Amino acid sequence: MKKYNISTKIIHVGNEPDLINGSIIPAIYQTSTYVQNEPGKHKGYEYTRSHNPTRTRLENCLASTENADYCIVTSSGMSSISLILETLPNGSKLLCGNDVYGGTYRLFNSVYNKKIKIKHIDTSNLKEFTRCYKEYKPDMVWLESLSNPTLKISDVNSISKLTKKDKKILVVDNTFMSPCFFTPISLGADIVIHSLTKYINGHSDIVGGAIMLNNKKIYDKLWYLQNSIGPTQSPFDSWLVLRGIKTLSIRMEQHQKNAHEIADFLERNSKILKVIYPGLNSHPQFELAKKQFCGFSGMIGVYINGGMKETKLFLKSLKLFALAESLGGVESLIEHPAIMTHASIPIDDRQKIGITDNFVRLSVGIEYLPDLLNDINEALSKI
Ligand SMILES: *Cc1c(COP(=O)(O)O)cnc(C)c1O
Repeated sequence: MKKYNISTKIIHVGNEPDLINGSIIPAIYQTSTYVQNEPGKHKGYEYTRSHNPTRTRLENCLASTENADYCIVTSSGMSSISLILETLPNGSKLLCGNDVYGGTYRLFNSVYNKKIKIKHIDTSNLKEFTRCYKEYKPDMVWLESLSNPTLKISDVNSISKLTKKDKKILVVDNTFMSPCFFTPISLGADIVIHSLTKYINGHSDIVGGAIMLNNKKIYDKLWYLQNSIGPTQSPFDSWLVLRGIKTLSIRMEQHQKNAHEIADFLERNSKILKVIYPGLNSHPQFELAKKQFCGFSGMIGVYINGGMKETKLFLKSLKLFALAESLGGVESLIEHPAIMTHASIPIDDRQKIGITDNFVRLSVGIEYLPDLLNDINEALSKI
């Protein structure tokens, strides 16, 4: 299946018709255990925490989207991240972007901080990254393909040259780009993770995570840890992701089309101080974005011309954009990172990276664009 385009793979890999009865859509194997012919003799499935046929189908599909040999599907994006940290020996050093997802920041700094040493830097500044990498000598480097929420971009190819030379592990959280627009393994990343909750499932009705990689030794370790600790995804949720992912390519096209137009519109509006969108040439890494990605995704960062009062008024006045955490669903969402997704980051650190009271993050959905533009325009006219 490697020869097929991703738009074909998301429909066919893992979604092959049932061999026994020909059903075009795979069954949901809603079972906890499997019958054995004699002790230890089974058909590859013993217990659903270890393996489940519906989850196996999803893992095959997801591995193919990132051109990876292996995939592990977990109960959430956070449990995927935890399993990766569990593979590290005590005292390991992690070098991480300074504006990663709030939950990632919390996990690193208040759950794993006793086991692992963590340093946060601006990984989008390659010079600064290289200097810090050589001085700190990390065992693992952690990047987000598009950082959250300030949408910075790190040069994965250049960073992977450094980590490869030292045989260190480079992890890329590719949640914001989706494998349609970016496949970090092809640029030298060792491990890719996704929150399936976001674009990949795309319908805001499940929580899930996935780890994709080529290294068999790390895969075996991760599988052993997952089976031992237990954060697996339910068969029904795996089935929903297998269903949702089929439209990933056309959804991503529409997300980016809408987002690009909205970013353009906002940039020309006097009620807006600044817009961050990787597809605008005002984005500090616009050249890298064009080189590294094949699309710009549907996330926009916006600074309202005003303070907390005006920002809250804007959020309250929107009718189509729902005020909610999360992203990547077909419906448009908006959120206030300082109060919502990134509240767990200390205020000083937060302000340093630009998460201020007048900053909002949009996850642009796939609705009819003029309706979204009208909604934004009307809400802005209130302030
Ligand atoms: C949401 C998110 C996660 C966490 O995933 P969950 O499915 O919510 O556990 C991790 N990384 C990024 C970039 C995210 O947006």
